[in-house]
Amino acid sequence: MPVRLRHTRSHDYGYLVRRWRSVARSTGLIMRKFAEAGGNDLYFLRSRNIRNDVPSIYISAGIHGDESAATEGLLAWAERNPGLLEKLNFLLFPCLNPWGLIANSRYDSEGRDLNRSYHSSKVPQIALQMALFSDHAFDLALMLHEDYDGQGVYIYEVTGKKPYWAEDMLKAASKHINPDPRSKIEGRSARHGVVRRKITPDLMPEWPEAFVLCFQNVARVFTVETPSEFHLDDRIEAQVALVDRAVKLVQKEFSLPKSPVEA
Ligand SMILES: [Zn+2]
Repeated sequence: MPVRLRHTRSHDYGYLVRRWRSVARSTGLIMRKFAEAGGNDLYFLRSRNIRNDVPSIYISAGIHGDESAATEGLLAWAERNPGLLEKLNFLLFPCLNPWGLIANSRYDSEGRDLNRSYHSSKVPQIALQMALFSDHAFDLALMLHEDYDGQGVYIYEVTGKKPYWAEDMLKAASKHINPDPRSKIEGRSARHGVVRRKITPDLMPEWPEAFVLCFQNVARVFTVETPSEFHLDDRIEAQVALVDRAVKLVQKEFSLPKSPVEA
């Protein structure tokens, strides 16, 4: 029975933008164009007023255009959580590589991997994007991705603030897709779908987005990955569950009394 056809437009960027406009209208989030790339406009959404008594959250998706459960997952989460979008501080980048999304390509219109471009300001859209967040403090940053080699969901968690959250997030996603069982992922040691690592400027010469946020002292930085060869519906639901859980965890952490060291 063809019941799973509703996402066949997951590479339709115009449709994605229209749905985000509707989210912006219903939540009061500001939605603005910040750059143009490959013949497409790029947008961010942000809270109208920054409140000090709630956490600030950064989420991006679609920097690799062939990872459509990331863009659809973020949108699905947003559509289901208007109350949170109104209440907490958000900066959202719904699709950082529209040309790639339309072409189903990891790369941009000039053949660049944008997620290896954050070490320099040579790519205009990256420089414009960084200008939007460089002087902001975030309590949580999530970068949503997918992986063709993935055999389940996995997460890169930056080593630092404890307790760690990746296992908890994977548990939430496992309702839809189990954690990736591999012991090595992208050449790095993994355990039950978690790759935990310390980020230093010399770790890679070409920086991914997560590096910049980490160097900006965001304590909770996660790159989440769903397996591209699994069913799109399950990948989208896994992405929604990952975002959902991380946002719940940051709300909980934010509400705890600050320790004397942090205060
Ligand atoms: Zn990716």
